[in-house]
Amino acid sequence: MTKLKEVTSGCVAAIYYTLRDADGQLLDTNRKGGKPLVFLQGVGQVVAGLDKGIVGRKRDEFFELEVAPEDAYGAHNPEATSKVPRSMFPADAAIEPGLRFTARDEQGRSVPGLIVSIEGDQVTVDHNHPLAGKTLHFEITVAGIREATSDEQQHGHAHGPGGHEH
Ligand code: ZN
Repeated sequence: MTKLKEVTSGCVAAIYYTLRDADGQLLDTNRKGGKPLVFLQGVGQVVAGLDKGIVGRKRDEFFELEVAPEDAYGAHNPEATSKVPRSMFPADAAIEPGLRFTARDEQGRSVPGLIVSIEGDQVTVDHNHPLAGKTLHFEITVAGIREATSDEQQHGHAHGPGGHEH
C-alpha cells in the first residue's frame, strides 16, 4: 500500500485525537490506548467537519479544528422525543431520568435514547445524539496516511489494524 505525504480525498488516515466541548471539557481521546483511529476519508466514518478538515494535512502534523454542530452531530432537535410504555424496557432495567441507552429502529439502526421523565407507565425519551447541538474542538495528530485499497473503496471503510478486521 502506497504511503502518502499528505491527506488526500479518499485516502486512509490514521489519527490520534482529543475531543473537547466548547468549555474545554474532555469528551473523548484515543491518545492513551496507543492505537490510532484509522478511517477512510470522505465516506462519513468520522464527522463531516473532521472528514473535510483533515484534507491537506501532513504526516505527523498536529492541528486543532473547531467543528460546528451542523458538521458534527447536527442541531439539537427539541421535538426528537417519544413516549414509550415502560413495558418496552427490560424488566430489570433501572428506569430513571438520566439513563442513556441504545435502541434499534425497524431498520435495525441504533438510535440513542435518554430518559427524560416518567409518568405512570409512560416513559419520555429524548433521541438526540449526546453531542447534538455541540461545537466540537478536536486536537489531531496525523499518525499515518496511505492510499485506500479497492476493497476499502468498495466497502466504504478502512481495513487492517485500527479499521475493520474481516
Ligand atoms: Zn470491509
